[in-house]
Amino acid sequence: MKDTFKHKGLRQQLVNVIKAKGIQDEKVLAAIGKIPRHLFMDSGFLDHAYQDKAFPIAADQTISQPYTVAFQTELMQVSPEDKVLEIGTGSGYQTAVLCELGARVYSIERQQELFKKTSKFLPKLGYRAKKIIFGDGYKGLPDEAPFDSIIVTAGAPFVPKPLLSQLKVDGGRLVIPVGDDVQVMTLFIRKGPKEFEQHEFGEFRFVPLLEDRN
Ligand code: SAH
Repeated sequence: MKDTFKHKGLRQQLVNVIKAKGIQDEKVLAAIGKIPRHLFMDSGFLDHAYQDKAFPIAADQTISQPYTVAFQTELMQVSPEDKVLEIGTGSGYQTAVLCELGARVYSIERQQELFKKTSKFLPKLGYRAKKIIFGDGYKGLPDEAPFDSIIVTAGAPFVPKPLLSQLKVDGGRLVIPVGDDVQVMTLFIRKGPKEFEQHEFGEFRFVPLLEDRN
């Protein structure tokens, strides 16, 4: 598990690339500049780790593109100690970004292989999520609700109701890519028990949020 000057240099270039694409939040940029993304990928892809691209990981899933990770994280507006829920742990890279921001992170993964691998791997790098859960993200995590923010890192064919109801009533934020083949990045801000503001932010492509557990 090496992190060399070469990796650090490549990481700084990556930060410059996503900055040029419009990411402004300095804390998010600092997190991307700090996290050794190459360690989250299978060894064959090491050379590609600092390109602004998604790449395959285990179980036919992908590690999201850094720009997308930064974009979604920016929309969450995370403050230190926020209680946040992530749907789709995957490689754990997004989880690490949320940990860097000082959030108390709960993350759900439905592929057992990834759940096992990532829940062992993150603490080795010093990233301690509150809990990584093997389960179905469509249901959210009712026992730990409400959350300051919730992020979905797979393409959702529709907005799962439990996720909206698990947001903090005064200002909880859900960041979710909605759609089948292509997804529209959508932000819901909870303004009251049954009131939600909705904002849309253009098209992205994710692996699908799956309904049936393997
Ligand atoms: N945040 C991840 C992105 C991984 S891709 C990263 O940075 O690497 C999306 C992940 O969502 C995959 O790991 C996939 O297995 C998971 N997923 C798909 N459907 C899910 C569901 N219903 N509940 C929880 N996780 C799900």
